[in-house]
Formats: sequence, structure tokens, C-alpha cells
Amino acid sequence: MRIARFTTGDDPRFGAVGQDDSGATVIAVLEGDPLYRAPQLTGEKLALEDVRLLAPVIPRSKVIGVGRNYADHAAELSNPLPEEPLLFLKPNTSVIGPDEPIVLPPQSGNVHHEAELAVVIGRIAKSVPRDRVSEVIFGYTCGNDVTARDLQQTDNQWARAKGFDTFCPLGPWIETDLDPSDLAVRCRVGGEERQSGRTSQLIFDVATLIEYISAAFTLLPGDVILTGTPAGVGPITAGDHVAVTVEGIGVLANPVVAAD
Ligand code: ZN
Repeated sequence: MRIARFTTGDDPRFGAVGQDDSGATVIAVLEGDPLYRAPQLTGEKLALEDVRLLAPVIPRSKVIGVGRNYADHAAELSNPLPEEPLLFLKPNTSVIGPDEPIVLPPQSGNVHHEAELAVVIGRIAKSVPRDRVSEVIFGYTCGNDVTARDLQQTDNQWARAKGFDTFCPLGPWIETDLDPSDLAVRCRVGGEERQSGRTSQLIFDVATLIEYISAAFTLLPGDVILTGTPAGVGPITAGDHVAVTVEGIGVLANPVVAAD
């Protein structure tokens, strides 16, 4: 099931994205938040073009990033391969949805895109063994781990460089039925392909990451794990249009604007 969070001008609602009999893409509206109750249809259906998609989840407590999880990306920034997953946190205030602008902060002169597969957690999870991680995964979406590369290099910690408002686009929806082991992950900027990798190239796969992360942190429903980015990261500037595609999920597109 593809679960979207959307608005028609009122409070956000959730819906299942699919095709109607004529082949048009529609949203079948759900009761409440499917993270906290079994999806139940209200019977109302809306055309996708008549709604505005929002970030499919607002992480309840945290977005966990994983650094240098593709060998070719570690190499392009002259970093050694990590021996264990390299974790960092992004605040949930950095999350935006599809088509919302990424705002370039005045503190940075070199903001990069990072296309990533994002995992959405569905249950309270602590110390999950790798053979049980599927029980705590709600689904998958596309993520853009936007990073102020200059500040990442000059700040000892990455909190600021990766934590600015708008630095975590997520969407367009959550795919709940997906095998994450070999998916194409791509980024295009203004139509030019910048990144292209496959999740089969992850140094630490999704099961390993959840086992490792949940050994340290309790994961809550709605928490998000960004699994790392393939090679090809590069700058985005005001006026650009960034599109992250993950095979089997869809396209997450965002314009880039300068701060006021
Ligand atoms: Zn990243």
C-alpha cells in the first residue's frame, strides 16, 4: 500500500494512493493515522491532482542518518570506509514534504543534495535482532539528506550542517510493501542525473542498520532512518529543482530557494 499524507486546505489527512477504474491516480481517504491504527477506508476518494501532498510522516522523535554507507560516496569525499555504521541525528523540524522549497541558509555557501532510501519505523523498537526487523518497519519513502558541506567540514559535529530547517525532504508517500535489498536510488538536478546507485551497494543493509541503531536508541513509530547516499553528491543553488527517485516508491521533487 502507498500511504500519503495530504491536505485539501484543512487539517492533514492520510490516504491510500492507487488507480481508479479509468486509470487515474486517486487517493482513498483513510480514518486517522495509519501509523497508529489499522488502515480503514472512509469511502471518500480524491484525485491526486486535487490535493497537496505533505511529508508522509513527521518523525515523532528523530531522523537518524547514516554517513558513508556507500563505498563510492565515501571515496568521492576522500573518507575511509566505516567499520561500523556512522550515525547522526537530524531534528524533526528539518522535515518538509514534496514540492516544498529547500531554503539555502546564509551560513553556508555549499549545500549538497543526498538522495537516499528512507525507512519509516512503525512500532516502538529496542534491541531488534536482524531477523525481526521487518516487524518494526512501517514502510519506505524517498529522502534527501540535504547537507551544508562546508559546515560539515568546519563544525566538529554534523548537527548544524545537516539540521537546518527544510534539510530533510521526505515523500512522496510511504510504500509499505517493498523489498529494500536492491532498489535504484537516483538524484536529478534540473533534469541532469547527478546520482545513481543501488541499495545492494549499501555497506550496512537495512536489517543491519536497524539492529545496530535500536541497540542504542529506542525507535518510536514515525521515526525515520536515512540509509546513506550513493556517489555523485554536489551543490544545489537557488532556482534548482531537485528530484530524488527510489525504485518502487516514486519521485520526491523540491525546488531550491535562497533564504529571505
Ligand atoms: Zn546522507
